[in-house]
Amino acid sequence: MDLNHFETRVHEELTRTLANLHDTKTLLSQPVVKSSDCCDNADQVQQQYQLNTIITRLNARLKALNIAKVKLINEEYGYCQECGDDIEPARLVFDVTSTHCITCQTKKEMSQHLYAH
Ligand SMILES: [Zn+2]
Repeated sequence: MDLNHFETRVHEELTRTLANLHDTKTLLSQPVVKSSDCCDNADQVQQQYQLNTIITRLNARLKALNIAKVKLINEEYGYCQECGDDIEPARLVFDVTSTHCITCQTKKEMSQHLYAH
């Protein structure tokens, strides 16, 4: 497996995610314009809520990318956290932060699905 390729991709996405996070936080910290119009205020609350959701998602992504980065450094990248088998390269190409092989991921999702009901 070409680890250099994944290292580059993890690095690129990390840079992009950090920039996004910075931009989103800047948007969120902009002073809220007071308006007498009730609908405008509702829109602002809605927008702040959406920005907070984006920030939560970006932070989660950042965490996953940092884990991938550490694994690359420690040469543990590309192995399933559950069973230790190689993660299918196609899964890593699709998502560089994949931590489970397809078998374990499916099992995990199935149990999550069961617990969710
Ligand atoms: Zn596995």
